[in-house]
Amino acid sequence: MSADPGAAPDAALRLLNEVFGHPDFRGAQREIVEHVAAGGDALVLMPTGGGKSLCYQLPALLRRGTALVVSPLIALMQDQVDALRQLGVRAALINSTLDAEAVAATERALRAGELDLLYCAPERLVMPRMLGALEDARLALFAIDEAHCVSQWGHDFRPEYLQLSLLHERFPEVPRIALTATADPQTRAEIVRRLALGEARVFVSSFDRPNIRYTIVDKQDARSQLLRFIRGAHAGEAGIVYCLARRKVEETAAWLAAQGVNALPYHAGMSSEARAEHQARFQREDGVVMVATIAFGMGIDKPDVRFVAHLDLPKSIEGYYQETGRAGRDGAPADAWMAYGLGDVVQQRRMIEQSEGSEEYRRVSTVKLEALLGLCETAGCRRVRLLSYFGEQAAPCGNCDACLEPPETWDATEAARKALSCIYRTGQRFGAGHLIDVLRGRATERVGQWGHDGLAVFGLGADLDENAWRGVFRQLVALGYARPDHEAYGALRLTEASRPVLKGEQKIELRRAAPRKAKPVARQRAAWPETASPAQTALLERLKAWRAGQAREQAVPAYVIFHDSTLAALAALRPRDLDGLSVIDGIGARKLERYGPQLLELLRE
Ligand code: ADP
Ligand code: ZN
Repeated sequence: MSADPGAAPDAALRLLNEVFGHPDFRGAQREIVEHVAAGGDALVLMPTGGGKSLCYQLPALLRRGTALVVSPLIALMQDQVDALRQLGVRAALINSTLDAEAVAATERALRAGELDLLYCAPERLVMPRMLGALEDARLALFAIDEAHCVSQWGHDFRPEYLQLSLLHERFPEVPRIALTATADPQTRAEIVRRLALGEARVFVSSFDRPNIRYTIVDKQDARSQLLRFIRGAHAGEAGIVYCLARRKVEETAAWLAAQGVNALPYHAGMSSEARAEHQARFQREDGVVMVATIAFGMGIDKPDVRFVAHLDLPKSIEGYYQETGRAGRDGAPADAWMAYGLGDVVQQRRMIEQSEGSEEYRRVSTVKLEALLGLCETAGCRRVRLLSYFGEQAAPCGNCDACLEPPETWDATEAARKALSCIYRTGQRFGAGHLIDVLRGRATERVGQWGHDGLAVFGLGADLDENAWRGVFRQLVALGYARPDHEAYGALRLTEASRPVLKGEQKIELRRAAPRKAKPVARQRAAWPETASPAQTALLERLKAWRAGQAREQAVPAYVIFHDSTLAALAALRPRDLDGLSVIDGIGARKLERYGPQLLELLRE
C-alpha cells in the first residue's frame, strides 16, 4: 500500500473509506491530513478520542516512504500496530520489548522501504544506531504523539522528548506533525519552542466531547449509588472508577466484585506484574470495570470505555476532564459520573493545607479546586462551565444532568444564617454531623454532653431534613462561607464571607438537594435503539461472542476486530450482502474481505 506523489485530492477520502472503513472525516481531520500529506508541519491539539491517529496515519499512506511515529506509550504500541495490520497497513514497532534479532529485522524492513509506519519509543529514536537506519531509509514524515511530554509545565514530562528537536536538525526536509490533547497555552507554547515548530500550522479543535454525558450527584451512600448507576446504565460494559486512596480502591473493587461486577483494582502500591495483568485484562476483555487511583491513566486508549465514575473529587478541572475523557473515545454515548459531598471538599482542602508545597503551589491548588467546586455546585449546564474553563464558549448542551433535569434552586438565606449561627454558637469546634443534630433538635448524647440542647439554635432547623442540611453545609463550604479547620479534625469555622450572611445582608441561592431515593438512570447504549427487539439483542450478543472468539484466536483486544458501535450497527441494520456490509462504519476493504463471509453467515442465522 504505497503512495503516489501528488495524489489526487480525494485520495485521502478514498483511503479513509477503503482502508479504515470510515465514511467521512471528523472535524479538522481532512484539513490536517491534506496539509501534512502536502509536506507541511503541523501542531494538532485535539481532545482525547478526537481522532488524532488518522491525522498521521493517512498522510503516512499518502506519502512515499515510512512514517516514523514517536510515542512514549510502549505498552500500547503493540495494540496500535496490531490494529493497523488488521487493516492491511504495513506497520511495525521498535522498542525495548523486542530482542536484538527482531530489532534487526525491523531495521532491514525500514531500509528496504517495506514499512508504511514505524512506531518507536523516544529514547530509542535518538540512539545513533536508529538515526543511522533512518538516514538510509526514505522517510514520509515524523509524527510526535503525546507532544506535551516535552513540556515541563505538564504532568507527563519525559526528558527524552527534549532531544526530539534533533529530528528537525538532522532531517529538515521531512515534515513533522506533533499531537496532544493538552490544551493550555503554556504547554502549547513550550511544545512549539522545544520542538522548533515555529513554522508549523496549528490546528486547535474544540475540546467538547458531545457524546459524554456529565452527571454529578450528591454523595449519600456512594458505593450503592455507584452500583445502581452501573447496573442501571452500564451492566456488562467497560468502565473506570476513580478513588483517591489505594485502600479504597481495594475495598471498592472487592465489594463490586462481590456484587457481581467484573471489577479489578489498580494502584501504584500493587506489584508491577499485577498492574500489567489487570491493565491487559481491561484492555483486552469485554466489560471489565477498573477501580483505580489516578496511577491508572495515561496511555489507556481503549475506545469502548462506556463510563468513568469518580467516588472522590479530583484536584482540578484539568484532572477531571482528562480522567473523564477516557470514556467514549469511539464516539458512542458514554457517561462521566461523580458522587460528591461535603467530605470531599473538606478532604481536598486539607490535602492542600497540609501539602509540603510552596505558598504559591497552595495558592494555585486552591484556585483550581475552587473552579472545580464551581462546576460541582453550578445549577447551569456542566458542559458550558467545563468549556469556559478551557476558554471556549458554548450553549447549554442538552446532555448533562443540569440540562436534562434542571436542578431547583431555592432561597436559602434563612437556612444559611441558621447554619452559620449554629457554627458560631457551638464555638466553631464541630463538624457538619453534630451541627445538623443541633439544628434539627436531636438530643443525642453528644448534644447533651456539651449542653447544646440549651442553645437558641437547638431545634431551629427542624423544618429541613438531614439531607437538605447536608446540602446546605456542603455548599456553604464549597462557596467559601464556612471553612473546615484541619487542626481541629475538620470542625467548621466562619470566614470573612460569613459576616454579611449572618447579618442578613446577603441573599443566598442554593441548589436543592436531590431526593433520598435515586431515580433509575436512563438506559443508554452505543448506537443501540431503545426499541431494539429481543431478536436484535440476541444477534448483538452472538456478534459479540463471535468477536470474543476471534480476539482470543488472534491474541488481540476485541475492539481491534470491531468496535461496539460497528457490531451494534450490524445488528440493527442486518445487511444481507457484502455491499451492505461495506457501508457500515468500521468495515474497510481488508476487514470486509477477511470477516465479511463469516459476518453474513452470522447475520443470516
Ligand atoms: P485520539 O488519539 O485523538 O484519542 P483516536 O485516533 O484513537 O483518538 O480515535 C478515537 C476513535 O475514533 C477511534 O476508535 C477511531 O477509530 C475513531 N475515529 C477516528 N476518526 C474517525 C472518523 N473519521 N470516522 C469514524 N471514526 C473515527
Ligand atoms: Zn448541559
